[in-house]
Amino acid sequence: MIVAIDGPAGAGKGTLARRLAREFNLAYLDTGALYRAVGLRVLEMGADPADPASATHAARTLDVSGLDSPRLRDEDAADAASKVAAIPAVRAALLDFQRNFAKNPPSPCTGAVLDGRDIGTVVCPDAPLKIFVTASLEERARRRTLELQDKGIDAIQDRVLADMIARDERDRDRKTAPLAAANDAIVLDTTEMNADAVFDRAAALFRSRTGRIAD
Ligand code: C5P
Repeated sequence: MIVAIDGPAGAGKGTLARRLAREFNLAYLDTGALYRAVGLRVLEMGADPADPASATHAARTLDVSGLDSPRLRDEDAADAASKVAAIPAVRAALLDFQRNFAKNPPSPCTGAVLDGRDIGTVVCPDAPLKIFVTASLEERARRRTLELQDKGIDAIQDRVLADMIARDERDRDRKTAPLAAANDAIVLDTTEMNADAVFDRAAALFRSRTGRIAD
């Protein structure tokens, strides 16, 4: 079983994906972390994330063992990620790893849940369950600001909002694998929903698609 979750920044994809993974014994891959890791490596090399040669080299030599590093959650990593993510050769270099994870989830998991921007459209177009999670821009910026403040970062909502608008535009407008809901995705607008309500809705969809009940 593969669950594909896509949507813009701050819509609640990660929270939902982690809960589905726990509940249904699925392996979880945060594909944004791959792009963040590539973006950060380019920054650490002192290069420009928008430079195709540097970004492609970083993607082809990426070490996926450090994907849970807290440094990847910083806003400069997010910004660099959305720049490297617009380069087709970077996306191509990361595709096999994502598809292989989805098809061969690490034991003892019985399936996989991947979240990102192009999981339902490009990485796993045959996934039996695709969910596109979205929310209003203001609500997404509010959530992201609180998340950063919780980590002790002195975040200002207007600044977070401006960064989010720039990143959303880059993700939607790029030519290769832009942020978009697959035709067969269920769209969940979480603006007025809390995390429990989003999870309950997605879990019901999962159960109905698989005929499984949570154990
Ligand atoms: O999901 P997250 O905010 O961590 O993603 C960081 C950036 O990585 C996104 O803004 C997007 O540009 C890129 N990304 C992507 N395709 C994915 C996952 C993330 O282009 N499947």
